[in-house]
Amino acid sequence: MTTKKRILTGDRPTGKLHLGHYVGSLENRLRLQDEYECIFIIADLHVLTTKPSKDEIAQIEQNIRDLILDHLAVGIDPNKVTFYVQSAVKEVYQINLIFEMLVTVPRLARLPSIKDMARNASIDEEQLPFGLLGYPVLQAADILLPRAHLVPVGKDNEAHVEITREIARRFNNLYGEVFPEPDALVPNIGTLPGTDGQSKMSKSAGNAIMLSDDTKTVEQKVRGMYTDPNRVRADIPGRVEGNPVFAYHDAFNPNIDEVNDLKERYRQGRVGDVEVKKKLAAALNDFLDPLRERRAHYEANPDVVDQIIADGNARARAIAHETVQMMEEAMGLTYFR
Ligand code: ATP
Ligand code: MG
Repeated sequence: MTTKKRILTGDRPTGKLHLGHYVGSLENRLRLQDEYECIFIIADLHVLTTKPSKDEIAQIEQNIRDLILDHLAVGIDPNKVTFYVQSAVKEVYQINLIFEMLVTVPRLARLPSIKDMARNASIDEEQLPFGLLGYPVLQAADILLPRAHLVPVGKDNEAHVEITREIARRFNNLYGEVFPEPDALVPNIGTLPGTDGQSKMSKSAGNAIMLSDDTKTVEQKVRGMYTDPNRVRADIPGRVEGNPVFAYHDAFNPNIDEVNDLKERYRQGRVGDVEVKKKLAAALNDFLDPLRERRAHYEANPDVVDQIIADGNARARAIAHETVQMMEEAMGLTYFR
């Protein structure tokens, strides 16, 4: 019997991951896999809340493979972590439906995140899908399906964990104690800026360095990076603060002496952008090289990846089956079975 607390976290399979994801979530997950029992959901049904077309669905399978490969590449250990595909564990549909009875429409409609998601998907209020309003309820079903204790999430998702806690409490009050009230684990980390100087690296903004980029691509992206726009010559003192090139040095260059030396000379106008960027590209490629090696290993062995997903799905199904049984027994929903 494991006595570790159980963590549920995950991602929507919408594409490959980038350095921002590493800083914002993967680095944290690498630590968590040793301390907790970790379950990582690949939330494909959540993609359908804004993109239900067949063309979108046709891309999900490859996106799932990419997402798992990115995790394995950074060093997530499939022997420690259970990966499962949301739509493959049917109990989530059952749990979601029961939870829909335990939350009010105004409570969901007040959430700024729902409006944000609708806006980002160009959906106007009159066209708001029922399923998008229900996004946080489905998330509660994801979290409570394995009866998780902890949920690592970004700041933007904290409110959804609060809804999950309310639903767990409501269920337990109405029917008896089945669910833990899960806590959000919000990492205290900054946002990695984009290569274009925008405040957030994001694949949709086209300002991202992907974890799967090759050496040449990284060099080329770093060469084109935004720096201090006032610094038209190398002998003009430059700003280090708010300069994405230095934000990346801070995040990914382990040679602190080199970084401090570059910063000092940059402030004094004694170093050119070319040198700062060359050293950054080298540091990023040093960071990415072991990822590339692990990725190549799994790319050469796709059956291994398939088996990781199959095993994860099976394990999640077993837990989910148990949860639904506990729910139905607590509710007295046991007739004509
Ligand atoms: P993108 O924004 O690149 O299209 P996405 O929409 O799949 O990717 P988000 O929902 O923005 O990803 O973020 C998923 C997780 O990764 C969140 O925990 C978020 O905090 C983290 N994350 C994403 N981009 C960054 C970044 N630039 N810096 C730090 N964390 C990030
Ligand atoms: Mg995003």
